[in-house]
Amino acid sequence: MNIKERLFAEIDDRQDDLIALTRELVAMPTLNPPGDNYLEICEYLKARFEKSGMQTELVRAEGALGDSDKYPRWNIIGRKEGNHSGDCIHFNSHTDVVHVGENWTKEPFGGEIEDGRIYGRGTCDMKGGMATSIVAVESFLAICPEFSGSVEISGTADEESGGYSGVAWLAERGWFSPTRVQHVIIPEPLNKDRICLGHRGVWWAEIETKGRIAHGCMPFLGDCAIRHMGAVIREMEEALYPLLASKTTNYPIVPEGARQSTMNLNSIHGGEKEQDSDFAGFSAPCVPDLCRIRIDRRFLPEESIESVKSEIEKMLESIKTKRPDFEYSVTEMFSVPSILTEKDAPIVQSVHKSIQEVLGGSPEYVISPGTYDQKHIDRIGKLKNCIAYGPGILDLAHQPDEWVGIQDMVDSAKVMACTIFDLLCKEKN
Ligand SMILES: [Zn+2]
Repeated sequence: MNIKERLFAEIDDRQDDLIALTRELVAMPTLNPPGDNYLEICEYLKARFEKSGMQTELVRAEGALGDSDKYPRWNIIGRKEGNHSGDCIHFNSHTDVVHVGENWTKEPFGGEIEDGRIYGRGTCDMKGGMATSIVAVESFLAICPEFSGSVEISGTADEESGGYSGVAWLAERGWFSPTRVQHVIIPEPLNKDRICLGHRGVWWAEIETKGRIAHGCMPFLGDCAIRHMGAVIREMEEALYPLLASKTTNYPIVPEGARQSTMNLNSIHGGEKEQDSDFAGFSAPCVPDLCRIRIDRRFLPEESIESVKSEIEKMLESIKTKRPDFEYSVTEMFSVPSILTEKDAPIVQSVHKSIQEVLGGSPEYVISPGTYDQKHIDRIGKLKNCIAYGPGILDLAHQPDEWVGIQDMVDSAKVMACTIFDLLCKEKN
């Protein structure tokens, strides 16, 4: 057997361990929000990393968005140095999972196995991917103890709520600077034969329309902010949504529906505040003087944040010319540009070759509809050589009866181990 065949055989031998590891990770309900059990999962990972000789650092993102003494944001990083200087390849997984939701037929944290699948919240997104990368690294270290550079694995907090006390916090402190780390794989569930190069951009904003309060029996003495917002939404329906639908991309964004500009109306509030459900009284008759919507605008790599903003400004200005007394304001909440790693980047090339070697066909290149922690690695860390690659079916993420396929994990582990070998054992190739 050559060394790669030994590596693949080692991963096959560790299949039961891969299953057990996934189930143990799933059994820790790291629900976010609020951010439960972060320390527990990090300590579990710390012990696991140290077993294969890694140096570990357990760090709390003290003071970061989301961190509190009640819900501390813990992150764990394991690192194994090789025998010679060389590149560092880093596998980053988020430890948090979204809330369980309704309509489960399986135990959400039970890790039930059926027909070659492991079920549970986080199996697909992304504890299955995390376990896969851990077994890939452990197998590599067992078979190739002599290598150049270093391997790192991290388990980080809060990806599901923006990653500000996870990857962003670490990136701000130099953990993802290109002098420290050269290649990053995020094992998000993109399917074992796809390489995700990046994601669409996002802009969240609040639009407020303003009115004037008056008695509801004499609305002509006031000015109804909700009617003004109605005009905004009508303009969106008639002009903006058709415009967004007409903007299509040449990039391979998945799923197909995301290959155009999209906008979600996240929430709407206007007039008197809604009372608690146990309040039995009536409302007071008032003309609402304020109405507010939140928009979640996702844009294509071909669009800029500036053009997205000016589109909204133009729409609102055009309403102003048609409606006397129309007053509005726009408040930006946050934005992230579209991020794309080049296809000729070393990590892309290496994973491409490994997929061909393990699965026998060429990978599909895809771009994610929504953002993930790559944004922080790219923008804060200034590290461009980063992709998402891992087992699991993207559409199952956050769904009831989420699952990950065992064979997909084994195959992905081989692709990951093959990639580490390719990048850190070049002289042996
Ligand atoms: Zn995820």
